[in-house]
Amino acid sequence: MNNPSEIKSWALAFGILIGIASPSLAQTQESRPAQHVVLISIDGFRPDFYLEEKWPAPNLQEMAQSGARSLGVTGVFPSVTYPSHTTIITGRTPLHHGIYYNAPFEPTGQTGRWFWESDLIKVPTLWDGVRAAGMKSASFIWPVSVGAPIDYNLPEFWSLEEGFGRIEPMREQETPKGLMAELEEQVVGKLNERTFNGDYLNREDRIGEMAGYVLETYKPNLITLHLIATDHFQHEEGRDGPMVRKSLAATDRAIGKIIEAAARAGILDQTTFIVTGDHGFVNIHSSISPNVWLVEAGLMENKPDRGNWKATFHTSGASAFLHLKDPTDAATLQKVKTILENLPESQKKLFRVLDRSALDQVGADPNAALALAPIQGISFSPSSQGAVLKPAKGGTHGFFPDFDEIETGFIAWGAGIRENVEIQEMSLVDVAAVVNYLLGLKMDLPESNLYPGIKK
Ligand SMILES: [Zn+2]
Repeated sequence: MNNPSEIKSWALAFGILIGIASPSLAQTQESRPAQHVVLISIDGFRPDFYLEEKWPAPNLQEMAQSGARSLGVTGVFPSVTYPSHTTIITGRTPLHHGIYYNAPFEPTGQTGRWFWESDLIKVPTLWDGVRAAGMKSASFIWPVSVGAPIDYNLPEFWSLEEGFGRIEPMREQETPKGLMAELEEQVVGKLNERTFNGDYLNREDRIGEMAGYVLETYKPNLITLHLIATDHFQHEEGRDGPMVRKSLAATDRAIGKIIEAAARAGILDQTTFIVTGDHGFVNIHSSISPNVWLVEAGLMENKPDRGNWKATFHTSGASAFLHLKDPTDAATLQKVKTILENLPESQKKLFRVLDRSALDQVGADPNAALALAPIQGISFSPSSQGAVLKPAKGGTHGFFPDFDEIETGFIAWGAGIRENVEIQEMSLVDVAAVVNYLLGLKMDLPESNLYPGIKK
């Protein structure tokens, strides 16, 4: 193989450019505003983290000031992690993308499984769009990414069997085989439950280092990554607390490592960083267990498999969704509505009832008969025993996404993004259109707005 045209076709076939770019390829690259997009999700990301200097986030604050930033991003219902991440990656609401909750509703009792597998997503993802355009992607700990069309992928996944932890189940789901071993050898050292642990901050450092290494070494066109410590500690401490501050600092540092990797690789000027999140956070003081009402009315039993049941509430974060064993059972639905209507005023004022048309309008689970959305301070609990109202503490999310505290953030900074743009209001479905524009993908995104004011 020493004929130049043979070398060129071999090189192109393997995606390797050896200084002989074909005209068509060069043209495509020029027409894309960015060659690389790093799409970062910070779990529980709030706009005040980058709008207010009191927070320890120098990278985020600098990117927000010099790039495009939103004052608040309206999320999905329920405002929980898996539906929201799938909205980011598809530009669609849960009604369309099919990831309605973190954990699917299981009629014979919840097994503990979550919506892990990407084949549960009913619409094309940005990873599909990147592959269809002949480009490469990488992803780290992104929800609902097991088996996704991603070139370098460590998905979020864990075993339900006791004692298995998270590291080895994740290794089993990696793409390509040996990716985690390579990352361990080249950057982060041996991963185990001590060195990569969601109860501590070491996980954020390692995700930043792994994503930086893959960006620098393989230069994929899209990297998606999910940083989670800010969620963990806001659940424990509420919206403010020493570990919330430290977890934000760790997250900011992880992002700084990826920016440095792009600079070392010489691709910073061709790269766009998008930082967004899945939901904000609300401090809580009390919880309501609506299944206690259903047990009292004989519509379900206080058993893990719900016993002989006709109706049950599936909670997702702070909110609760009514599921009927027989979806056409209008008599049972009416009984539940009557229970809710006859509650004392002191309880009725703690939540609102969303009927089917309200759920359609916001784009929530088409299988739920109705949903209960609490006021701030209150969270619904899956418990079917004890008092209806119990004490609760810390923070949570899952609320109906129509107030400031539950909103998440958005920053876009780098190639193809206009400098110093403030976006007063946008929606989580709009993030996909920005990536679609930056990488010149040809995705059909009917719910997603690309605001022309952020384009360079
Ligand atoms: Zn989350």
